[in-house]
Amino acid sequence: MNIIFLGPPGAGKGTHANIISAKYQIPHISTGDILRMAIANQTETGLRAKEYMDKGQLVPDQVVIDIVKERLAMADCADGYILDGFPRTVAQAEELGTFAKIDVALNLMASDQLLVERLSGRLVCPLCGAPYRISALGGDLTCRVDSTPLILREDDKPETVDKRLEVYHEKTAPLIDYYGKLGLLRNVAIDGGTGEDIPVETVAERISKALEEFA
Ligand code: AMP
Repeated sequence: MNIIFLGPPGAGKGTHANIISAKYQIPHISTGDILRMAIANQTETGLRAKEYMDKGQLVPDQVVIDIVKERLAMADCADGYILDGFPRTVAQAEELGTFAKIDVALNLMASDQLLVERLSGRLVCPLCGAPYRISALGGDLTCRVDSTPLILREDDKPETVDKRLEVYHEKTAPLIDYYGKLGLLRNVAIDGGTGEDIPVETVAERISKALEEFA
């Protein structure tokens, strides 16, 4: 099963891609994680990407396309994969279509208000990337997996969050229509219907159900 996780920043793409990756034993490929790793390793790509990422802008299409093309050619992708955060523009989607066969594009839907609340209330582990809601941490601001002190992602700072949502609406939201027309779109609401947050487990159940027909 080759899956795309679509959706705005803060919708929980990373969290749910991890859950589905474990369930179906297929790799979770996050272009954001790959780019952050490249920044940490101070590679040429990383240094170039950082300028865009810190401002909440998209990294140029060709940079991420090359990354994904190389990653999907690896042996562990032979039985399926989950793309999280790619494609993010119609140009990326069109290019992806030339070297991959996508089975389903799962769209996580949320209101902007909920996303802003989530992103500005989120800390991540700088080592393993796990995200946490500050309100759920109960004062212990360390990673539950590896005990590393959690940090606020540079691009989760309030001024950058607004920019990321603006970029999402302008560049990425058109992909909903794009995959809808291809008949590959499945929508999953990540709120309770009136914009309120709901438990991760409830969303995970909705996602599993939406994917059942493809498994
Ligand atoms: P994410 O962790 O998916 O929210 O990505 C963090 C940042 O990495 C984004 O705000 C972009 O600057 C960059 N990025 C990740 N994936 C892509 C992509 N497919 N196209 C362009 N930029 C991307």
